Amino acid sequence: MSQPSVPTPENRNPLLSTWNSRFGLPPFKAIAPEHFRPAFDRALAAHRAEIDAIAAEAAAPSFANTIEALERSGQALERVSNLFYVLAGADTGDAIEEIERDIAPLLARHSDALYLNAGLFRRIEALHKRGDTLGLLPEQYRVLDRYHTRFVRAGAALGKDAQGRLAAINERLASLGTQFGQNVLADEKSYALMLEEGDLVGLPEFAIAAARAAAEERGHKGKHAITLARSSVETFLQFSARRDLREKAFKAWIMRGEGGGKTDNRDIVAEMVRLRAERARLIGYETFADYRLDDQMAKTPAAARNLLDDVWGRALAKATIERDALQDMIAQEGGNFALAPWDWRYYTQKLRKVKYDLDEAEIKPYFQLDRMIEAAFETAHRLFGLSFKSVDVPLYHSDARAWEVLDANGHHAGLFVGDYFARGSKHSGAWMTSLRDQQKLSGDMAPVIVNVCNFSKPAAGETALLSFDDARTLFHEFGHALHGLLSNVTYPLLAGTSVSSDFVELPSQLYEHWLEVPEILKKYARHARTNEPMPQALLDKVLATRTFNQGFATVEYTACALVDLDLHGLKEPGALDVAGFEHESLARIHMPAEIVMRHRIPHFQHLFSGGGYAAGYYSYMWSEVLDADAFEAFEETGDTFDPATAKRLREFIYSAGNLRDPAEAYKAFRGRLPTVDALLRKRGLAEPANA
Ligand SMILES: [Zn+2]
Repeated sequence: MSQPSVPTPENRNPLLSTWNSRFGLPPFKAIAPEHFRPAFDRALAAHRAEIDAIAAEAAAPSFANTIEALERSGQALERVSNLFYVLAGADTGDAIEEIERDIAPLLARHSDALYLNAGLFRRIEALHKRGDTLGLLPEQYRVLDRYHTRFVRAGAALGKDAQGRLAAINERLASLGTQFGQNVLADEKSYALMLEEGDLVGLPEFAIAAARAAAEERGHKGKHAITLARSSVETFLQFSARRDLREKAFKAWIMRGEGGGKTDNRDIVAEMVRLRAERARLIGYETFADYRLDDQMAKTPAAARNLLDDVWGRALAKATIERDALQDMIAQEGGNFALAPWDWRYYTQKLRKVKYDLDEAEIKPYFQLDRMIEAAFETAHRLFGLSFKSVDVPLYHSDARAWEVLDANGHHAGLFVGDYFARGSKHSGAWMTSLRDQQKLSGDMAPVIVNVCNFSKPAAGETALLSFDDARTLFHEFGHALHGLLSNVTYPLLAGTSVSSDFVELPSQLYEHWLEVPEILKKYARHARTNEPMPQALLDKVLATRTFNQGFATVEYTACALVDLDLHGLKEPGALDVAGFEHESLARIHMPAEIVMRHRIPHFQHLFSGGGYAAGYYSYMWSEVLDADAFEAFEETGDTFDPATAKRLREFIYSAGNLRDPAEAYKAFRGRLPTVDALLRKRGLAEPANA
């Protein structure tokens, strides 16, 4: 027997050692959940010491000893928390969730120790006052200005009492946001609609295969399950001829976070809304929405609401016509019931078949996951000269895959990780995140970017197929990924997607347009069995239905954005009745009874799981004004890959991070600001309503 060695925690903990693996990836195989707490503790303490040293610096404040020093600090913390949150989102479990609950308030406290540090703020304030005399490069001035804005917005200029209260609020909000997301996941994990053979009526082959795979993942091999992942439940709602089962699945889906008991999110929401309003007041704003939007491209809630209102009336008119057409169809079939929310997708699918002779089941075999990944890569190649080389590196889950990204000269430009399938350990939705962001201050750091989606996983040996919407999601997230991969800045603060949330959806939503470009679609939409490209007639039909059902889609989205602004526009939320508030807010805008918000408040993760989009869900529509107009810049040249336009797009948008104010960045690309016209054309809302 060998002598048992007692390693010190440092040399036993792979999170605390240098990562020498290829591309600077974490040694995933060696990492266990219990490594995170000690690693966080060490990284937090190290960053704290760096911050204190910068604040206590004896020399007069300079850009180098204050701003650059801050930009160089906290690297271990960045590394550990990036990795942790990739896992907490995409491959979580009881142990990770427990750490997540513990660590959220600690990170909030740590952030306040930085932003409410009086000595540090004095230095930044002094530098900012004489910013134009410091001889700074434009990027350096932007970094200084952003730090100053961040500190002021965090409450650095306030008195001690207000700061104490702010810190308490931030800590509480961090815990509540974590619990909110975990509750949604718990509700999703605990539910599955198990189907017997006779319950499959109407479901096409691909949907049955996905239901079989979902059952198997949950330990019911040989059975069929519908889960609350969007890809699973929406497909079921589209095709199932069993109205009773559609109702059952739909109700479970929209009741996430509102089921009573331990995972009910209503009290959490009420408290978060109250705390956010109080926080905004302390910092000097009337409401949380005013506070939030002051540092966005929109600047004011009124500006965001104007856009939404403009679209809402048109969308409502179009949705009404769509509803009547669906109701007619029910009558024609001899149905004697009013269209309900769980019928909308089913009859829309049928109507599409009648009107356009187009069936989702007919399109689906042409959208193979792997071909769509290639399509996204080729688009990036044609626009930006990037190439992607599949690499075999250990990752956190066997479903995740990696590609090395090479620039036009064949030089390493970053690593892209795609993690596409739904599973019980993954939160719902789709997102881009990073293990490492681009920067040049501490060496020339290439980014490591991750895309996470929730597509239905095929049974072993079968080809993964996407819906057209799934393919659009893949392009969307890949657009975000390129924003990270093409980033070309010196300072970490400005890298990649660190822009305002109403601008960050421009690179992602703009990218979706290229999925529909005939050169891409023709080449990559190939039948899974025959490898034949999609016939021109079918392709034409797919493109012709682009504005079909857009009344529904626009209503479903815009209602969420309006309710979000209402909720975060409350001055004194008091003891908020969340369900009642949602109901009243929707009644005010005459929400059709047959359409339910895309995300109801109790599971609205954009607003409450963390809160990146709180008072910011309008961002998608705001960015859509930009992306619709930006794509027309290509169309105007007659070439959807026009090299000169692509070059400007790269220079001012995809590689520029937060180098410029968003409006300036857009003007630099387009020569002017956008108008709403292109968006209305894109959604088929420009003409008088017509289904
Ligand atoms: Zn996005």
